[in-house]
Amino acid sequence: MKAIQVSKVGGPEVLELADIPVPEPKATEAVVQIKASGVNFIDVYYREGRYPAPLPFVSGQEGAGVVTTTGSEVSHLKPGDRVAYTGVLGSYAEFAAVPADRLVQIPDKLDFNQAAAAMLQGMTAHYLSHSTFPIQAGHTVLIHAAAGGVGLLLVQMAKKLGARVIGTAGSDEKAKLARDAGADDLIIYTKQDFEAETLGLTGGKGVDVVYDGVGKTTFDKDLKVLRPRGYLVLFGGASGAVPPFDLLLLTKHGSLFVTRPSLHHYVAAREELEQRSNDVLGMIDSGDLKLRIHKAYPLSQAQEAHRDLEGRKTSGKSLLIP
Ligand code: NDP
Repeated sequence: MKAIQVSKVGGPEVLELADIPVPEPKATEAVVQIKASGVNFIDVYYREGRYPAPLPFVSGQEGAGVVTTTGSEVSHLKPGDRVAYTGVLGSYAEFAAVPADRLVQIPDKLDFNQAAAAMLQGMTAHYLSHSTFPIQAGHTVLIHAAAGGVGLLLVQMAKKLGARVIGTAGSDEKAKLARDAGADDLIIYTKQDFEAETLGLTGGKGVDVVYDGVGKTTFDKDLKVLRPRGYLVLFGGASGAVPPFDLLLLTKHGSLFVTRPSLHHYVAAREELEQRSNDVLGMIDSGDLKLRIHKAYPLSQAQEAHRDLEGRKTSGKSLLIP
């Protein structure tokens, strides 16, 4: 089968199209014929070696497709089932062996592209807004990279929960997309100072929560735009990792809370995975949550997909189609 393999860590060029055997399922696994694979920033971290994985590995950790074979201990799935998953390496491929307890059924009305686009970024937006800092009506939230994959979904969920949403974006075009998704105010943080703008928009009070997947370039100012006892939810580092910092800064800026969550810990239990994925897929099914597919690239164009994502050229979801 065709797969995108990483044999040494580095830039997009290390994503190589390889011919490798179709995997056999272990007793608790199912093999899925991948119809669409999601491209996510975490794939960049693995490719670069920021998150270590034994080499060589097949890149990607989000997919949707059809079950072809099941291991001897798998009873709740059968060949032909339409399934989706996230959190297991190896989705940039024609087939992947996936622990059966990570697979969820795709609702009939959703196609494979929608399902692949929903799992990682959709469940991330969901846990950030419903569990890490449960948004309530009346909260004011700041969402960085509001036109990104997670960003556009988080904006919609925050609005549905009754928040006032301030978003940041790198260009006017992206700002428009975030506004169309429901954001109330947009700051072009490549041209405007988001600290001054956010304080101006909140009458100097600051926001209840900052959702930050950008990291290195935004973190310091995040501390200054929060209200006393506000929450800084640092969930990624698209601009680079945040260096170690002095905890006393949290006191100085108003007894703040900082957390660095991962989706992994918010879907670890099967029950929680089912609840969260049902919620997200259900919202898409009902039209309450709109997905924006930036582009579906052929599998062979994985390098281009990564260059576009890292080059800030995307807005919404990128997919690879085997
Ligand atoms: P996005 O589609 O949001 O792409 C990243 C965006 O970050 C860019 O489009 C860009 O938007 C912004 N950005 C700002 N500075 C830079 C920079 N120097 N280089 C590249 N991008 C930059 O990606 P995802 O939705 O896949 O992921 C968003 C973030 O969420 C990532 O940090 C990712 O790791 C994290 N994440 C974390 C999870 C968790 O559970 N902790 C799960 C899923 C994602 P703009 O041009 O508008 O600034």
